[in-house]
Amino acid sequence: MIIVLNPHVKEEHIERISDYLHKLNLKIHTSQGEEQTILGVIGDISCVDIEKIKGFEGVNKVIRISESYKQCSRTFNPTDTIVSIGNVPFGGKDIAIIAGPCSVENEKMIHKLAMEVKRYGAHVLRGGAFKPRSSPYTFQGLGETGLKYLRDAAFSAGIPSVSEIMTIGDIDLFYNYVDALQVGARNMQNYSLLKALGTIDKPIILKRGMSATIEEWLNAAEYIVTGGNQRVILCERGIRTYETSTRFTLDLSSVPVIKKLSHLPIIVDPSHAMGNRDLVISMARAAVAAGADGIMVEVHDDPNNALSDGPQSLYPKQFNQLMKELHIISQVIGRGVIKQ
Ligand code: PEP
Ligand code: MN
Repeated sequence: MIIVLNPHVKEEHIERISDYLHKLNLKIHTSQGEEQTILGVIGDISCVDIEKIKGFEGVNKVIRISESYKQCSRTFNPTDTIVSIGNVPFGGKDIAIIAGPCSVENEKMIHKLAMEVKRYGAHVLRGGAFKPRSSPYTFQGLGETGLKYLRDAAFSAGIPSVSEIMTIGDIDLFYNYVDALQVGARNMQNYSLLKALGTIDKPIILKRGMSATIEEWLNAAEYIVTGGNQRVILCERGIRTYETSTRFTLDLSSVPVIKKLSHLPIIVDPSHAMGNRDLVISMARAAVAAGADGIMVEVHDDPNNALSDGPQSLYPKQFNQLMKELHIISQVIGRGVIKQ
């Protein structure tokens, strides 16, 4: 439920409404727009007397949120939320770039790649240490050692880091090593994990499940947000369709749809969607043109010998070229790439 207040409402009137709601054990999220102030009511609103609220001075109207997700909806909070990883803002005017290998393979490679992607303009370093591989016979990641190498490499390059978490038991571990935690496509509906991530104060990159609708995806985000962690960045990474020429079908239409339905930032990962580096660049360009707040892309300096996802990893040189293009494309739509 949201309460739309009259323009220039008096502070004392807001306080009276807040007191009433607090007495009912409800929390309030205030969204201060240029023209309008909106109070989002959080909690079990079945005890609220809507007619009574309508009667409070300063109230313009009361609206029930019809979407199944509430706090993630744009109705609840009409202004864009900016989520920062380290000091890198996602969801503001300019776009942010996350780059790095699929997996942290050894200390030397992650240090080298961290310096390289940073040099070409990346803002955040990615690298998996606990890998959700489709086959149990393939490289599963270096575990804690991988997180340590990632942290040190990101520190040397002077940029923050992100890595994928698969299980609740690893939250404390990740908390000590990374600046943001990624929930992968395969775990988007792991509701216990989402609830647990709602209790921490680090940003979460929530990938779209490969067979999740946008509504299911936003409800997954709602699990994190209702737990108390508002710092969620959505990441479109492709869905499964009958098409087999790409690894997944990159649903770029989710970008404008999410922008309409939600205030949360959305980025796009064209690497896992396309599965082939020659196709990644076009879709990265398209994602920015479609209004994504950033890109997550896999980069490897020896992709033929990569332990995971080599075929879709860009060579550092290609990443450099892509960054130059994203500068131009973002400007066409009145944005830019965040200055490092
Ligand atoms: C990844 O980013 O390394 C990954 C496994 O992605 P996804 O969950 O989108 O498959
Ligand atoms: Mn990968």
